[in-house]
Amino acid sequence: MQLYNTLTRRVEPFAPADGTTVRMYTCGPTVYNPAHLGNFRTFLFEDLLRRVLRLNGWKVEQVMNLTDVDDKIIARSVQQGKTISEVTVPVTEIFHRDREFLRIEKAEVYPKATEHIPEMIAIVEKLMSRGLAYQAEDASVYFAIARFPGYGKLSRLDTRQIRAGARVAADDYNKEDVRDFALWKAAKPEDEQTGAAWDSPWGRGRPGWHLECSAMAKRYLGDTLDIHAGGVDLIFPHHEDEIAQSEGANEKPFARMWCHGEFLLTDGAKMAKRVGNVAGVEELRTHGISAAAVRHFMFSVHYRKQLNLAEESLEASSNAVRRVGDFAERLAAASGGTENMSSIAAELVESATDAFNDDLNAPEALAALFEFIRMVNAELDAGGTDQKGLDDARQAFALVNGVLDIVPGEPELDAALSSWVEERLTARREARARRDFAVADAIRGELDGRGIAIEDTPQGTRWKKVR
Ligand SMILES: [Zn+2]
Repeated sequence: MQLYNTLTRRVEPFAPADGTTVRMYTCGPTVYNPAHLGNFRTFLFEDLLRRVLRLNGWKVEQVMNLTDVDDKIIARSVQQGKTISEVTVPVTEIFHRDREFLRIEKAEVYPKATEHIPEMIAIVEKLMSRGLAYQAEDASVYFAIARFPGYGKLSRLDTRQIRAGARVAADDYNKEDVRDFALWKAAKPEDEQTGAAWDSPWGRGRPGWHLECSAMAKRYLGDTLDIHAGGVDLIFPHHEDEIAQSEGANEKPFARMWCHGEFLLTDGAKMAKRVGNVAGVEELRTHGISAAAVRHFMFSVHYRKQLNLAEESLEASSNAVRRVGDFAERLAAASGGTENMSSIAAELVESATDAFNDDLNAPEALAALFEFIRMVNAELDAGGTDQKGLDDARQAFALVNGVLDIVPGEPELDAALSSWVEERLTARREARARRDFAVADAIRGELDGRGIAIEDTPQGTRWKKVR
């Protein structure tokens, strides 16, 4: 398998250091607002990466952090008179709902920043003892970039450029160098008020954003990761600062491979006709755009190229996955195939696997899949009774779709079913409120008829599909 490594600016062979398990850290969402589609392009690229790693027979141990304390979260909490967790818990639920809708496989761990403060403090203590960090007059602790020789190796930004680009804020006069970044921010009244302050050897405060990733990566994956992934917008300063902290504290390389997904461009996209202005997954879902179509759209362009969000492209992807769905049904229902189908299947497995392993070339794998569909459809049209040909075709299709996951179906049905169930439950609640128990019971029967079991709890009625 080959992957582009941002650190070396080259496509390189990849295998996990221990030969069996890929230890991968992926920067997760800041949970103050539902993640936008640009974030989900990154998460889908990471889902593709995860599935291709497994296709190679490796296990994957993926950690995705949830940033549940930062300036934006605190500002929103103050505005709404809430604590930070009252803001972040519901948004985290939305993130997982959107993630599941898009069929993004669950990472092994989703650690929260606020639950790893001691690990963060330990890194700052280490950096202090090694002379790489200092407490300034404003009581915050900063990383001293000038004392870390490798600074800038990932982004390859000239340090003079970094200096020129750094915004000189009022508190920057406390720092030794304007480029220095905060490891630990001294608590302000709004931090205390919203539950965003903790005790530390340097007084009350909260961690800087970069610090949380260094701490949680070390906690769950050790000092050296196989892969660190994220969006290109994180290369500088976030990932550069993670390297400075982790390598400064651990004295070991932080990640063997750095993978970055490009932007999804939504500016100027004319989405008005059918979709309106789409910002998040929820809008796509309510406009009836399937997860399969979104995945096809995102994978139709290589992850290191920019992608434009346009209504026509989503339409084209919806049509494309409908063909995939029709084919999947036809293949499942077929009672026999042809001998030719075995070689057509072998050809798909080879070209799609090669494409996936060539720096996640999903567009090429998609092209191979559609060629396979065209050829197998022609064989099925001819009719046949060959069982091996049919089995080979089914296996090849399952293997490639196991990575792309672009057959529309269950989740979309579920979305329609959910809204129907919610509507019925509202009607039942109203019937019970007016003590019309006959109607309420009839609705329960109606739900039961479609395999929905309900349970009345003090928090409301819960339901699940039981068959
Ligand atoms: Zn990070």
